Amino acid sequence: ALAVTAGAASLALIMSGCGESSESSSSSGGGTIGIAMPTRASERWLTDGKSVVTDLKAKGYKTKLVYGDDDPDRQVSQIENLVKQGVDALIIAAIDNKSLNNVVKQAADANIPVISYDRLILGTKNVDYYVSFDNEQVGRLQALHIIDELGLEDGKGPFNIELFAGSPDDNNTKYFFDGAMHLLQPFLDSKQLVVPSGQTELDKITTLRWDGPTAQKRMEGILARTYGTKKVDAVLSPYDGISLGVLAALKADGYGSGSKPLPVITGQDAELASVKSIIAGEQGQTVYKDLRELAEVAALMVDDILTDKPVEVNNRRSYNNGAKPVPAYLLQPTSVDKTNYKEVLVLSGYYTAADLK
Ligand code: BGC
Repeated sequence: ALAVTAGAASLALIMSGCGESSESSSSSGGGTIGIAMPTRASERWLTDGKSVVTDLKAKGYKTKLVYGDDDPDRQVSQIENLVKQGVDALIIAAIDNKSLNNVVKQAADANIPVISYDRLILGTKNVDYYVSFDNEQVGRLQALHIIDELGLEDGKGPFNIELFAGSPDDNNTKYFFDGAMHLLQPFLDSKQLVVPSGQTELDKITTLRWDGPTAQKRMEGILARTYGTKKVDAVLSPYDGISLGVLAALKADGYGSGSKPLPVITGQDAELASVKSIIAGEQGQTVYKDLRELAEVAALMVDDILTDKPVEVNNRRSYNNGAKPVPAYLLQPTSVDKTNYKEVLVLSGYYTAADLK
């Protein structure tokens, strides 16, 4: 059974309260929806693409799904094509949040509504809705894992930590980082946490396009330049692909054997390789976001817009994109570690027990 949050469930209720089943094809004009996803290189976006297509088809829509292969220009031309083909709505997960202004203007001129999916498109009023997770909460959950594992609330320390952030052109990056630093900063101030590399500012620690090998190189550099006899006790990582890159650098440096235990390492997306790494006791944690729910809300939004129904949003603070406050629906992420992965990932049907072998 599909696990839905109270939020997504109440959306379904609202729809059935209107006398419309969310599955009813009579609610749709049978239009075509363009879906632009950023990359096939990370599992999560494959799941997003599949789920959005399935949910829209169930509502009677046709779909055109494209992947931009992490190339902003390629994504722009893909969306331009979708506009030219006359799609009825667009669902876009941006690669570079600032590169889409012209193309979403073309969409607006052609009366095509745009939903910003997971990552907010910045600097344009031609974005109708935003659907995502509570991105600051993602960062808080990562920080809480580090705080708990190191016993920082019990006054333990000092510990050495290194900080990694996501792609500088992804609006989520600063939300993840700010959420985490809000909870970590008091321990940096009390010197229970120390950053030996000295790299604490967001612009020093970003990872272009969330690339694991880029993070691996940065970690290798830090280990070579600043660690000497010191040991890394924790790494704030915003995404599983980055966590695995960092882990590779640490292992090559002798961590994970003998007197050098692996540090506490966070992550995000509950990608299969990282969940396996958690089970093996290497990566410490990941933040699970049920992409089936995200897809479901995006599909409902499209259907509501195209059938002139009120669109449900739930954000209390406005998500300002620099041009306007974009109405948003935010879902809740869940922290996953060794203690709860079965309950969260297997019981919900996100993975089967066999997937995790
Ligand atoms: C998403 C994360 C993902 C990252 C890299 C972010 O925009 O919110 O879930 O880990 O992109 O793909």
